[in-house]
Amino acid sequence: MRATVMYGIHDVRVETVPDARLIEPTDALVRVTRACICGSDLWPYNSMTPTETGNRMGHEFVGVVEAVGSAVRTVKKGNLVVAPFAWSDGTCEFCRQGLQTSCLHGGWWGGTELDGGQGEAVRVPHADGTLVVLPVSPDHALMPSLLTLSDVMGTGHHAALAAKVGPGKIAAIVGDGAVGLCAVIAARRLGAERIIMLGRHADRIALARTFGATEIVSERGEAAIERVRELTGGLGAHSVLECVGHGEAMRTAVSIARPGGAVGRVGVPQEPTIPNAQPSFYGNITIAGGPAPVRAYIEELLPDVLEGRIEPGRVFDRVTDIDGVPDGYRAMNEREAIKVMIEF
Ligand SMILES: [Zn+2]
Repeated sequence: MRATVMYGIHDVRVETVPDARLIEPTDALVRVTRACICGSDLWPYNSMTPTETGNRMGHEFVGVVEAVGSAVRTVKKGNLVVAPFAWSDGTCEFCRQGLQTSCLHGGWWGGTELDGGQGEAVRVPHADGTLVVLPVSPDHALMPSLLTLSDVMGTGHHAALAAKVGPGKIAAIVGDGAVGLCAVIAARRLGAERIIMLGRHADRIALARTFGATEIVSERGEAAIERVRELTGGLGAHSVLECVGHGEAMRTAVSIARPGGAVGRVGVPQEPTIPNAQPSFYGNITIAGGPAPVRAYIEELLPDVLEGRIEPGRVFDRVTDIDGVPDGYRAMNEREAIKVMIEF
């Protein structure tokens, strides 16, 4: 079968790899129908130490179950399924409390040992705990939005929960990538009264507005912080959703949160420490978040997608086949595309 392998900085190849197959009795074999490239794939794309073996890529996919192991109960051959960006058993202490990204027997897609989503098929460990069956056909018009449930929509929702978004509150979104845009959807869905989007790209700002952003701040650095303070009567936002991960974004996020407010961070931190420790301490600012347990959110968000109340699939502005994946990485890295969907 063919799959995407990353060997080093800006070195993404589509190659023939060993066919995915069942190994454990709890596995399912899924033929991928749609997948995508993630903003977080761009971190290794710009920093990976070169290797001979390469890393299999992709952690967002929808597909059809081709076969299941003897111990699989809830997932059946022929089901259309969505996979969250981490796999999990669904039964351990952390899975039962809805924190599947900390599953005691779970893990992450791709790398050197497991299949990645940006390939033709995937062996899915702990299929019953990991996969969610979708009640539609693989070519359904809502498929782009359903695909976002594997990561970006659930991650935006997690940012909103961690930032304690609620009715009457002012939310501010740091980051105008696909997760930031989904965070706008999530903030609106949870009842934020105002949603301030920090972003500069015209296409992303336009989409943020259609998703529910009420104000746009296009300044950078200190000027952006000042502008948000002005917009909030000098107080800052109640809820800040940090959807980037680098130090500057986190510094901005902490600086625009009001005393007693919360920062929900879902951008993968690129620095070992959290900036602005003293101001956040004196302001009693909650800093929360982490890898979103999207498996816990799929069932909650699914009805809103199926009934058309939210349309997170609009973050995809480019579609490719598997041969176009390397160029898809380039396009996302150069901010030419917001998010690239792969059709198989
Ligand atoms: Zn678990």
